[in-house]
Amino acid sequence: MNKKRVLLVSEAHYLHSGFGTYSKELLSRLHNTNKYELAEFASYGKYESTGGTPWLFYANLPNDGDAEGQNVYNSTTGHQFGAWRFDKVCLDFKPDIVLCYRDPWMDNWIAGSPSRPYFHWVWMPTVDSAPQRQEWVDTFCKCDAVLAYSEFGGKVLKEQGKEGINYIGCASPGIDPKIYKPLPKGDHRKDMGLDPDCFIVGTVMRNQKRKLFFELMKSFRLFLDRSPPEIAAKTFLYLHTSYPEKSGWDIPDGIMQNKLGGNVLMTYICKSCRQFFPSLFQDALVKCKFCHQVSAVCPTVSFGVSIPDLAKIYNLFDIYVQYAICEGFGMPQVEAAACGVPVAATNYSAMEDVLHFTKGYPIPVRTFFREIETNAERAYPDNEYLADLLVKFFTKSSSERQQEAMKVRQATIKRYDWDKTSKVWEKYIDSYVPSPSQKHWSAPPVFKPIPESVPENLSNEEFLKWICHSVMHEPELLHQQEGIKLYRDLNFGAEISQGVLEPIDRNKIFNIYKSRSNNSNAFEQMRSNQASTVVDPFITEAHQRRAK
Ligand SMILES: [Zn+2]
Repeated sequence: MNKKRVLLVSEAHYLHSGFGTYSKELLSRLHNTNKYELAEFASYGKYESTGGTPWLFYANLPNDGDAEGQNVYNSTTGHQFGAWRFDKVCLDFKPDIVLCYRDPWMDNWIAGSPSRPYFHWVWMPTVDSAPQRQEWVDTFCKCDAVLAYSEFGGKVLKEQGKEGINYIGCASPGIDPKIYKPLPKGDHRKDMGLDPDCFIVGTVMRNQKRKLFFELMKSFRLFLDRSPPEIAAKTFLYLHTSYPEKSGWDIPDGIMQNKLGGNVLMTYICKSCRQFFPSLFQDALVKCKFCHQVSAVCPTVSFGVSIPDLAKIYNLFDIYVQYAICEGFGMPQVEAAACGVPVAATNYSAMEDVLHFTKGYPIPVRTFFREIETNAERAYPDNEYLADLLVKFFTKSSSERQQEAMKVRQATIKRYDWDKTSKVWEKYIDSYVPSPSQKHWSAPPVFKPIPESVPENLSNEEFLKWICHSVMHEPELLHQQEGIKLYRDLNFGAEISQGVLEPIDRNKIFNIYKSRSNNSNAFEQMRSNQASTVVDPFITEAHQRRAK
């Protein structure tokens, strides 16, 4: 029997991003089963950056010398996610099934690609709050199957998608228990220049709007005021984050307003000697404790600590706090818990899951609010509750806290296990039945006749009917969200959606759909006539670099 042809669309497996790590863990396991023809279509992936892989590796980044490719790549933002090369990859690889797992706005273009009728599509979108935007839910309905990062995400998809979404389960990311493991706390702190007997409340979050650094500092102040003096005197708040950040929180202002001078530890990394160290917050730039140059800064996404060093930072903490209005998943919580550090977090969105499966401390939601950018429900945690929780936590005996750490570690590595994650995908790939509408790669081509111009004297409704029937040749579009929205926009005279308010008229709509049908025709032409088509160099390179 022929092996199933599986195409994974995501970020390159060698990148240290969350999506890149997921690629590496999933691809290597699927490859080891020896059951599939496997290919990776890698955003931010470059041939120069990777050696041979045992699966086919299609790079999405143009090569350094390819000026024309660079121009096309940079012409719209969607190209970084793969939209410009996806159909070529599909024509070459002819996947039976396509897998992806990025944010809705990164992957939703797949639904409209001309190759879509020829493969089975499984998507695990990040779902960080409810409700999801209706246009996204419509796209999820166009998938053959949908997974979720968290049980919370699954619940939202089921509630909102009703029977329209084929929800098949949860494939949360795992952690490597050999990297994220507990270290002997006292000795480790001494090595890092900290008092072995101090207490540390820690967090690892990006300095951005939805992470509540200021509220966390307010709550920590309440905790200091409410706890016995001997506890307050030795407890620190550790923020592993970036500062300054263009649209981030003003950390020194938070420290000043809450009278936390001398209570807040930060990670600093030296730009000269590259070593990192924890230190009381001083400023954006401090003297390095190793090479004594004034060249140590807070870590950023592009200048951060290594993964083993991050595990060392989690190990400094007694308790980890995720103080956010929502999370799509939130890896640091799970990494901290795998190091035996209990997690306290807002009891909402994917944090709900992590709290449940790592035996953490849910912080009740003080209030829900609608966020303008997403039109979704977001949550503010209860600062008072967290303050009291910390008092209780630090009045426990050290042996009680040690026992708890062991339980947290065990529960975490049991649930967040890459082998289990990969099995969820594998099981589905092995068991799915292609939908009756899925076309075969060798089916005869279907060309769409495209009219030259818009007929006159049509009402708006007749015009849209004409677009769906005579330009797109997809009459069902009219009754889907897309058609309904077009009708509304056309009547109003402007396209209305999140962040968009642009004039629209019949000609603009005709041009958009004409170009979609043109693309589809060009694709059908290549599909039926491949022998005489010039093969793109990036495709040739993908085959040449495959490890034998
Ligand atoms: Zn240094």
